[in-house]
Amino acid sequence: MRRMNPLVLINGTAILPDRLLPDATVVCRDGCIESVGTKSKRIPKDATVVDARGGYISPGFIDIHVHGGEGADFMDGTPDAVRAACRAHARHGTTTIFPTTTTGSVEQLTAMIESCAAVKLTWSAADGARIEGVHLYGPYFAPDKVGCHSLKGRRSPEAEEYARYFASGMIKIATCAAELPGAEAFYRAARKHRCLITCGHSNASWGEMQRAFKAGMRHVDHFWCAMSSVPSMRQRFNVPMQASMAEFVLANADMSTEVIADGCHLAPELLEFAWRMKGASRLMLVTDSNRALDLPPGKYRFGTKDDGSWFQSDGKVGWAPNGSLASSIVGMDHMVRHFAKATSAPLHDVIRMASLTPAERTGIAKQTGSLEKGKRADLLLLGRRLEVRRTFVGGEEITS
Ligand SMILES: [Zn+2]
Ligand SMILES: [Zn+2]
Repeated sequence: MRRMNPLVLINGTAILPDRLLPDATVVCRDGCIESVGTKSKRIPKDATVVDARGGYISPGFIDIHVHGGEGADFMDGTPDAVRAACRAHARHGTTTIFPTTTTGSVEQLTAMIESCAAVKLTWSAADGARIEGVHLYGPYFAPDKVGCHSLKGRRSPEAEEYARYFASGMIKIATCAAELPGAEAFYRAARKHRCLITCGHSNASWGEMQRAFKAGMRHVDHFWCAMSSVPSMRQRFNVPMQASMAEFVLANADMSTEVIADGCHLAPELLEFAWRMKGASRLMLVTDSNRALDLPPGKYRFGTKDDGSWFQSDGKVGWAPNGSLASSIVGMDHMVRHFAKATSAPLHDVIRMASLTPAERTGIAKQTGSLEKGKRADLLLLGRRLEVRRTFVGGEEITS
């Protein structure tokens, strides 16, 4: 790594995984955190000193479910589109990002994965949030749960197809609806590649979730959205009523999930409920944000710019033509502020759900995710109202 002057952040409240540390000093050297302590710490002479002015020093946010921003969808499949979205999310405090596929053709998915690989390989601070890997999300959704994704690009998993995606070495999170033919083989392949394995856009039963769990599935995408429920099980199997994905996640301590806390998808009591039931080490905040992030209200495509499905942004959230929600249009800073305001969760828990928990669940917690000695200096200066003031990735400030 290029040698840099030590970076020292002073005069802020550090947000640790389990508590707040007032009057903190965070010393970073060569892109890593060297110490986190109180203000009595000696400051190296050649240091670049950054004054938090009484705000917060937070770990950078990690987003495991995100489609795009500022006009670009990762599925546009070009390095320029990938960079535009990563820069937009860095402005909202995301320092580590897992670009997320939608449904689409093999060619479209391949172009998306290759573009992300190209940007990852040549990453510099000017590119914004750092890509850790791709979330292979579409196309393996249940036909009755595609949501706002294009139905044409949906299919069941075939080894011949997904083996190519896994061979890229880029896939770190892998989603498949558990009831699809071939789902278990897909989960086992994803486990071989050390992915966080998730079941999403699914109408799976308890029994299907149990089999998926045995094959390595440990996570469910956007809780309460595009997933099964007791009433949907009743439609599938009549009586006796059966448990669904929701009960499986709530009953199983090894299962994690995520919420879209934009204030439009879920009411405050559902956010509170999810946090109380799962705790901060099994619940994550995701943006699930699309290309309309930081753009004015209007009509946009979800997925590729050529044949993605249309949705309407009203400036707060996306709407599909059938009146259902079509993912969010805000960044992680908004999710953090809303969750902190709408629930009784303490601030350190809210930040954990947007940093350390996603790092742990994706296997990168040794490198990033919290203000701890030895980790990458991925950090944020937040104002007292949790607005993002400055963003650092590996100790370098992101200004783009
Ligand atoms: Zn979704
Ligand atoms: Zn999504």
